[in-house]
Amino acid sequence: MNDIFVAVQQTLPQLNEEQQKKLCLFYEMLVDWNTRMNLTAITEPMEVAQKHFADSILPEKLLKNGAAVIDVGTGAGFPGIPLAIARPDLRFTLMDALQKRLTFLAAVCGELGLNIPLVHARAEEAGKNPLYRAKFDAALSRAVASAGELCELTVPFLKENGLSLMYKGPQADAELAAAKNALNLLKARGETVAFDAAWGERRVIVVKKLAPTPDVYPRASGVMKKKPL
Ligand code: SAM
Repeated sequence: MNDIFVAVQQTLPQLNEEQQKKLCLFYEMLVDWNTRMNLTAITEPMEVAQKHFADSILPEKLLKNGAAVIDVGTGAGFPGIPLAIARPDLRFTLMDALQKRLTFLAAVCGELGLNIPLVHARAEEAGKNPLYRAKFDAALSRAVASAGELCELTVPFLKENGLSLMYKGPQADAELAAAKNALNLLKARGETVAFDAAWGERRVIVVKKLAPTPDVYPRASGVMKKKPL
């Protein structure tokens, strides 16, 4: 606990002690469950504090107070869980195609007292479901797909004027340029926002939904792969 507590205090001094302790508990569960299922390649305390926790929280100022937020392809809970701890005003939904990751997240939410719906679904299917379509102020995704694919996977979840935040590295501008056609078809526009973390350059592609998504999107995953927008 000590190494991770020091790392979290150094990396995220803006959080209060209760939030920092929750991140430490999340860390303990992550490395423990990681021995039984594949959750993360990063386990060293400072690296987890920087590359999982702080990176997840970096763009939090882009999320308006009280926003309904969906994390698409959350995996072991990134960026959703650190953001939910840092921003208790946000109303999160975590979605992943793999049930075993959601089993881990259910245990994490129970332990941390987080009341977050966990949805086992592929985004291509959930994006057509009236329970989730056009219901969110923001959609988040990290390490899930290219920006073009993510436009199709995440924009359908957004209300008009909602934002899709795609966590990327230095390749963000090139990915955004390649997603031009997808943005047009999905009636959205995008820009990149840079964050200079001490441990590396981070960029987030911020896509804004301008009008309702045409009914044909998202297409089935096989079609998406065969005919990228
Ligand atoms: N976002 C996490 C992170 O940054 O650590 C996990 C990244 S992991 C490389 C990608 C995750 O996205 C996996 O858990 C996978 O099951 C999920 N995923 C990929 N495609 C998906 C889709 N179409 N719908 C829902 N989940 C998806």
